[in-house]
Amino acid sequence: MTEYEPVIGLETHIQLNTTTKIFCSCKADSWYDPPNSNICPVCTGLPGVLPVLNKVVVEKAVLLAAAMHAEIRPISYFDRKNYFYPDLPKGYQISQYDMSLARGGYLDLPMTQQGYVRHISITKLHIEEDAGKTKNEAGMRLIDFNRCGVPLVEMVTGPDLRSADEAAQYLIRLRQLLRWLGVSEADMEKAHLRCDANVSIRPKGASYLNPKTEIKNVNSIEAVRAAIDKEIERQVREVTAGRHIESWTLEWDEDAGVLRKMRSKETEADYRYFREPDLLPIRLDDTWKQSILMELPELPLERRARFIAQYGLPEYDADILTGERRLSDYFEAAVKAYGGDPKRVSNWLMNDVLRMLNDRGITVAELRLTPDYLAQIIRLVDAGTINTSTGKSLLQKVEETQRAPQEIVQSEGLARINDDAAIRDVCQAVLAENPKEVASYKAGKTTLAAWFVGQVMRKMRGKADPSLARAILEELLKG
Ligand SMILES: [Zn+2]
Repeated sequence: MTEYEPVIGLETHIQLNTTTKIFCSCKADSWYDPPNSNICPVCTGLPGVLPVLNKVVVEKAVLLAAAMHAEIRPISYFDRKNYFYPDLPKGYQISQYDMSLARGGYLDLPMTQQGYVRHISITKLHIEEDAGKTKNEAGMRLIDFNRCGVPLVEMVTGPDLRSADEAAQYLIRLRQLLRWLGVSEADMEKAHLRCDANVSIRPKGASYLNPKTEIKNVNSIEAVRAAIDKEIERQVREVTAGRHIESWTLEWDEDAGVLRKMRSKETEADYRYFREPDLLPIRLDDTWKQSILMELPELPLERRARFIAQYGLPEYDADILTGERRLSDYFEAAVKAYGGDPKRVSNWLMNDVLRMLNDRGITVAELRLTPDYLAQIIRLVDAGTINTSTGKSLLQKVEETQRAPQEIVQSEGLARINDDAAIRDVCQAVLAENPKEVASYKAGKTTLAAWFVGQVMRKMRGKADPSLARAILEELLKG
């Protein structure tokens, strides 16, 4: 039996998080607004209006292109993509065709669990405006033009992805990068990041490309994974039965978990592209370009690699800590303030601080437990001033009160009791109160030692040094 490998490319539309639209001053993000509330003669395509390019769109797109390692063109042009659809009031979309803002580029995907890195090439990166949206309701076709003129970057990968898993990973890494750069909210549920997937199969080892199908309307990472897996299965079934794959456009029906045929795919010629006569080319001179690139931060994958090399972190830790830019900044600040083993800071962050964020439903930016306070708490535990469980509750107390850890330890008397005499008194009391357990211990049930330690810790509200308590108890029980 022939073994097949999937060949997948992704087309993504990224909504840039500008305040206003790309060619007019209407508000860009209308997610929470009523239909047709953010529109004007420009974005609804009334006769006689002229578009004016939003400079911030270019700046955010340049930043993204640089982060994707693309070559940025000093001069690029807008083109009209002509097609007829009710949600496109002008009858054309202003896009970029042959001389787009950037060319080439790539994104590397570390497949951490599988232990390899997949290199994904970028074949297209351009700026364009969004169209509106239509929906059917109560037997009517309704149109909302709010999205018309919302700035997008379209980015297309080469046919480099080899599984639904890799496609999902690409979107996860892209979303991470977009948020890291601050160019998009990248929320798939709010259509800030949309994805179409091109899928074909070929015998394993072959290098040619077979006809592909395009899956539209997948708006979550899980949906992308499910839809691609379904389509691979279908194509293998068809080809195994001796049938050909036709270049269909398929729509993913999330509720039913099935793909439906929408139409046969358009070709580029159907769009009759020509230069947009109402807009000047984008001239990105060196001064402007340099001022934009000054904002280019260390990228997530670079920082991930550095965390592994510089701090000796496992890949797993480095992945989580660089999942979000603020979190990775927080980690570095805490490591610096702590001065000890970075892995220890990583453990506290990943186990306790992230859980606290989750429980409280807050973001790293909203944390009142500063990196400095976290470092102080770990040092208090290291020094034996407080035990680990007190350290964990101290995290919560600092977060709630924003007071310095040391201050809380003092005012609440949380310091661990290392005083032999104080612990000895409590040990004696516990033994005196539990004669039956003492008798069983002496009769050979030495596993009760842990139970006695527990009783002592309870009486001392967790502040006793447990190993000291155990030693004293064993000594007293021998006597
Ligand atoms: Zn407008």
